[in-house]
Amino acid sequence: MKSVLPLFIFVDACGWEIIRNDPFVGQCAPIRKRLSSVFGYSSACVPSILSGRWPDEHRNWCYFVYDPEHSPFKSLKPLQWLPRAITSRRIFRRWLSKFVKAQLSFRGYFDLYNIPFQHISLYDFSEKKSPLQPGGMNRGSNIFDFLEERQIAYHVSAPERSEEANRDALIADIKSERIDFAFLYWPGLDGLLHAVGNQSPEVPVKLRRYEDWIGEVIAAAEPHYDEIRLYIFSDHGMANCDQLLDLKSVIEPLPLRFGEDYAAVYDSTMARFWFFNDDARAQISEALQSVSLGRILPESELQELRAWFPDGYFGELIFLVKEGVLIVPSHMGERPIRGMHGYHPSEPQSYAMLCTNQADLPDDVSAIPDIFKLMTRDAELAKARNSQPLETSAAELEPQFK
Ligand SMILES: [Zn+2]
Repeated sequence: MKSVLPLFIFVDACGWEIIRNDPFVGQCAPIRKRLSSVFGYSSACVPSILSGRWPDEHRNWCYFVYDPEHSPFKSLKPLQWLPRAITSRRIFRRWLSKFVKAQLSFRGYFDLYNIPFQHISLYDFSEKKSPLQPGGMNRGSNIFDFLEERQIAYHVSAPERSEEANRDALIADIKSERIDFAFLYWPGLDGLLHAVGNQSPEVPVKLRRYEDWIGEVIAAAEPHYDEIRLYIFSDHGMANCDQLLDLKSVIEPLPLRFGEDYAAVYDSTMARFWFFNDDARAQISEALQSVSLGRILPESELQELRAWFPDGYFGELIFLVKEGVLIVPSHMGERPIRGMHGYHPSEPQSYAMLCTNQADLPDDVSAIPDIFKLMTRDAELAKARNSQPLETSAAELEPQFK
């Protein structure tokens, strides 16, 4: 039997508003806190949690960027001649994404989404490595580098496996007493919320299923670890998309040429622009100012959000819509979906959460990158205590209870 298991369970999109009126994990992790999210999608939030740093530091922000010089997609350009009835279909895009990912040896999450093949050779993909692995950040280190440097044995989920398979792999590692740190990642709720929205009766059903699974993990750990330091947390929430915005139809009629005068990535909640002349900048800025469902984010605000990139790598102009508005069609999807995230972090549904059985949650844990501090603190604590005989470490625990 070992002394301590730090158990970090990441439930994607399980926002503060999702659990605020739900007893989620109230039995095993009764202390709960609302956390600020990071501006961006999971492509920004997950690396921020794993590194304890913000997008302007680690440079994992939005997936697609205008970078024709480094574009790995040149070979896909001839696909523009295939009929749109095929190339816009999700099933075709998913199959092709898998193929391209293998061809290009991308290690992280990869999806071609709805990027038009006509322009695909203008883009690069910014997450070529997996943030869930050591060396997985675009800049700097993450929790897995930290654990490897200190030779702390850990478990981490493999995103290509199902949620149940990842749960079972963790249980196997727990039973072997091989590990001093565990990071479990469950993305299923995110997918469900995108499809059904945050008010569907399917959401509490999914939460109950997670509680059952967490109960199974704890039951497996109790005979092997004297103390389980449990943290259940998310990266962001999910807003219902009640208004659709066809932003392309605002920009594309302008007398400007895509790829010659400007380039753009239409994400689901923001649009990012690069300009190749002053006229394009002026015309697009003016057109965007007439769109009441969103606004251009000023540099000062992007700096506050820690998503300001002076080199314009992720876009020279960022247009963000209000919570509940979905840009459609976009480069992310051709058709509407029920829920989306990636709005301003101060919007109600953006907030993330942390639930724990640890009463001594530091006050400076207030945003999702702060979860990193808890991970490093508990990993070092587990390494130290687990290397001693259990009796000694139990004696050391005693002062806490006086
Ligand atoms: Zn999502």
